[in-house]
Amino acid sequence: MTLLDWRTGHWAEAAAPCRFCWQPTHLRDDYRRPAHKVCAEQHPQKTAEPPQRGRSR
Ligand SMILES: [Zn+2]
Repeated sequence: MTLLDWRTGHWAEAAAPCRFCWQPTHLRDDYRRPAHKVCAEQHPQKTAEPPQRGRSR
């Protein structure tokens, strides 16, 4: 399992639903999307992919 280092820059003032389990979290992933660290560690591929920026097609 991938262990992430979210000690800096991964904390938000407001809680938001985790993108994996939908429980409230103050943590953000590398792209500032709400996610628990443990949830992100269980889905390293999903965490690594950049956020969808709308549809260009
Ligand atoms: Zn979660």
